[in-house]
Amino acid sequence: MKISQTQLEQVNTQIKRLLESNNFYGKKLAEAGISEVKSGEDFEKLPFSQKQDLRDAYPLGLMAVPEEDVVRIHSSSGTTGTPVIIPYTAKDVEDWAVQFARCYEMAGITDKDRLQVTPGYGLWTAGIGFQAGAERLGAMVVPMGPGNTNKQLQMMQDMETTVLCATSSYALLLAEEIQKRGISGDIHLKKGVIGSERWGEKMRQRIKNELGIEIYDIYGLTEIYGPGIGISCEHECGMHIWDDYVYVEIINPETGEVLPDGEWGEIVLTTLVKEGAPLIRYRTHDISRIIPGECKCGSKFPRIDVISGRSDDMMKIKGVNVFPKQIEEILALFPEVSSEYQIRISHLDGKDTMRIYVETNGTVDFAQLSEDIALKVKEKIGFTPLVKVVELGVLPRSEKKSKRVFDERYE
Ligand code: ZN
Repeated sequence: MKISQTQLEQVNTQIKRLLESNNFYGKKLAEAGISEVKSGEDFEKLPFSQKQDLRDAYPLGLMAVPEEDVVRIHSSSGTTGTPVIIPYTAKDVEDWAVQFARCYEMAGITDKDRLQVTPGYGLWTAGIGFQAGAERLGAMVVPMGPGNTNKQLQMMQDMETTVLCATSSYALLLAEEIQKRGISGDIHLKKGVIGSERWGEKMRQRIKNELGIEIYDIYGLTEIYGPGIGISCEHECGMHIWDDYVYVEIINPETGEVLPDGEWGEIVLTTLVKEGAPLIRYRTHDISRIIPGECKCGSKFPRIDVISGRSDDMMKIKGVNVFPKQIEEILALFPEVSSEYQIRISHLDGKDTMRIYVETNGTVDFAQLSEDIALKVKEKIGFTPLVKVVELGVLPRSEKKSKRVFDERYE
C-alpha cells in the first residue's frame, strides 16, 4: 500500500497546522526543518509520535487549534502514569460519528435496529462514540454504559435489543449469564459490535454460538478519535480502515522501518483531517499486518488483520521471547479448555517461571490435561510452564478488559 497524492496533500495541511500551533509535533518538525512532504519516501522520514509525547503534553499541549474551537476532550486512562488528553473540534466529533456510522453500515446495521451500548461513557471515548454513530444512522440507542448485568438483561429483553455493543469480555459475561438464566428465548440479538481488546478465535466462537449472533470487530484508540476508525465485514477477514480519515502503516517495532503489506509488525497511524489534536505517525504498539489484495466484499478500504498483541506485551522467559498470542494459539489446540486463561510469571529460586491457568469442565483428567499442555508449550516455544487446570468459571470475568498476563517478577 502506498500513500496517495490526496493523502500526501492532507498530510501537508496537517504539517502546516502543527507548525503554526507549535505543539510537541510542530516543534519536532521545526527542529527537523520539515515543512512539507512531496513523496511516500518523504513521508516515511517524518518522525514518529509516541504515547510519552502525549503524556508530556498534559493537559492541553496537544491542542493544535485556538481554544474557542475545542468543544470536547477525551482522555485515555492508561494503567500507569499521567493520562493523555485529546481535544476535539466540532468537526472532529462529527468526523468520528461519520466513521462510526460507516462501521455500522458495513455490519449491515440500519435505522430499524436497537443498539444496547455497554462500554463506558465519560472521559473514555467508547460509549459516546458507539452512541453518536448510531444516532447518525438513525438507529435507536439504549445507552446503558457498563455493569449492572441484571438491568442490562432486563432492558435487552424489554427493548428487544438487536445489536450488542460491548467489549469481548463483557459480551462473554452476558452470554454466559443468558445461558445460566435460560432466557435465550427472550433475547432478540442479531449482531454484536465488539471492540477495544485483543481476543482469540475461541472466545469469538463462544460468544457467537452462545448468543447466536454475527460478530463484527471494531478498531480504534482514544488518541485517534476512539473506536470506529475501522471494522470487520461479513467475510471476517480483517478490519477495513477508513483511510480517508486515517492512514495506516506497519513498521518493524525494533528498527522503525516500514514493512511491506502482509508482514506482521506495529500499527502506526496518521490522522489525515483531524483538527483538535492531529497525530502524525503515531505508534500504537498494536501488532497486526496489512492484508494484501482486495476483500471479497468489494470495499476498497484497506484491511488490517486481527490485533495479535501489543509490542510491549512481549514476555522474556528463560531467554525466550514469548507473546501471549502464542500461548493462546496452543490452548486453542485443546477443545476441552475454555476461552479464559491467565498467565503469571514469577521469579522463583533464581529462575523465571510461567504458570498458565486454564479452565475446563469436570469430565476431563486435570493432571493429564496439565501435562499435555505443558508438553505442547515446550514443543512449540521451548520452555516448560507450570499448567494449573481449574473448574470452568473460576477465572475472573471482567466488565471491561480482561487482564490475562501478570508479571510478578517486578512487583
Ligand atoms: Zn470486506
